[in-house]
Amino acid sequence: MSKKVPLYIDGEFVASKSEQWIPVTNPATQEVIAEAPCATQSEMEAAVASAREAFKTWKEVPVSERARVMMRYQALLKEHHDEIAEILAQETGKTFEDAKGDVWRGIEVVEHAANIPSLLMGETVENVARSIDSYSYTQPLGICAGITPFNFPAMIPLWMFPVAIAAGNTFILKPSEQDPLTPTRLVELFEQAGAPKGVLQVLHGGKDQVDFILDHPEIRALSFVGSVPVAEYIYRRGTENGKRVQAFAGAKNHCVIMPDANKQQVINNLVGSSVGAAGQRCMAISVAVFVGAAKEWIPEVAEAIAKVRPGAWNDENAAYGPVISPQAKERIEKVITEGEQEGAKLLVDGRNYTVEGLPNGNWVGPTVFSGVTPDMNLYKTEIFGPVLSISEVETLDDALEMVNNNPYGNGTSIFTASGAAARKYQHEVEVGQVGINIPIPVPLPFFSFTGWKRSFFGDLHAYGKQAVRFYTETKTVTARWFESDIEATGPNMSIHL
Ligand code: NAD
Repeated sequence: MSKKVPLYIDGEFVASKSEQWIPVTNPATQEVIAEAPCATQSEMEAAVASAREAFKTWKEVPVSERARVMMRYQALLKEHHDEIAEILAQETGKTFEDAKGDVWRGIEVVEHAANIPSLLMGETVENVARSIDSYSYTQPLGICAGITPFNFPAMIPLWMFPVAIAAGNTFILKPSEQDPLTPTRLVELFEQAGAPKGVLQVLHGGKDQVDFILDHPEIRALSFVGSVPVAEYIYRRGTENGKRVQAFAGAKNHCVIMPDANKQQVINNLVGSSVGAAGQRCMAISVAVFVGAAKEWIPEVAEAIAKVRPGAWNDENAAYGPVISPQAKERIEKVITEGEQEGAKLLVDGRNYTVEGLPNGNWVGPTVFSGVTPDMNLYKTEIFGPVLSISEVETLDDALEMVNNNPYGNGTSIFTASGAAARKYQHEVEVGQVGINIPIPVPLPFFSFTGWKRSFFGDLHAYGKQAVRFYTETKTVTARWFESDIEATGPNMSIHL
């Protein structure tokens, strides 16, 4: 019998009374390893009621005590790092090494949340008028919520609830229904770290549960990470309902290769950043743009990628795992077939890939196309699979034009030995996260995760100072204290201080 994933409401792990359950499968075998409930209306109402009650006391807990919960949480996550990575690898199919990276990037956000006292500091100016001072505080909003995707079941929930809760809010998490076991373990450890009852609730499910969150008037802010159509829907419906919304969406990330770059570095970096994690990263490189004579390296890039072998999470020689579901495999293979029909040159074909001993896995082999142009569906679609599209242009200006015309703006990189070319690219490119000789430039948590254009709907981004702003209100106080010997001046009828 598969495990029934519990909800987490009012500080208790509870068995849902739902009649609707979603199977959670091991993507390398199709074995059903768990079932996640679609939380019922009364369970969702109970989560909000508990979050409302908990907020009344949690916001009064001194900020240094809230920070200490995060310090203990960080220590527990580190202690259980490999165990969480194993749960994560089994439900996502990621290799153990990659799963550990997913957990680690989340732990770094908890470390950031442990610095909450200094992050919450407001501003002060003395004597804004004679004997009058102004200062600002940041105060929590109330109940916040997060809706997360399948591809980083540790890191992305940890982008959200530690920062929101450290800032004094309470939080409702709706993790991806495709891999809910990892977030469940994260929450067990959060409880062990001393998080009081009710500050965090977990509801499982799909669209109906998301709609409940979108429409509930007491939920003040909503963080979302997932695909573009859902991000747009969530941003629109959430903001129409008066909520603060940050919605991180899909991507098409370009790597520009200049002819003066180090060839071997380019090859090594392109392999890992394009097909690593089966391409299921929002910062994966999906388009390599070779400038001028750099195009001579394309056959060697294809050769290196062709050698990459996917396999099971615990196969030490596997470079990446299966894609998340049979539907994802079918969708990716369809885009590859269409790409060939559109006239792109298929240099490495990952369709119909098999892994010995695991005939039912959602395997997609490494795939490389050259001759890809912006009019092709292959170029326009976010494939979210181990597929690298290669384009050729003559100059850096041509490369910039191509990247800037693309509707997405999550990440990009340039490989070059020229400071001038790198400076020009960094300055002119219309993408929010730029790598210079770094293929996947995900900022560490003291910065923010700053996707642009159709990769992000909202204004304040995840983690860093921006997330603290997102989860708080600013209150500005203007104060005057009368000394007893100050003469009363009569009524002040003007707006001047
Ligand atoms: P998804 O949009 O299918 O699902 C994300 C969440 O939304 C899940 O919790 C799901 O239950 C919910 N959801 C799905 N359909 C819904 C609907 N119709 N109405 C309301 N809620 C719905 O995304 P996914 O497949 O889990 O994740 C992959 C996507 O996430 C990719 O597009 C990837 O680029 C993107 N992503 C973006 C970032 C980023 O930071 N920009 C990071 C990771 C992943």
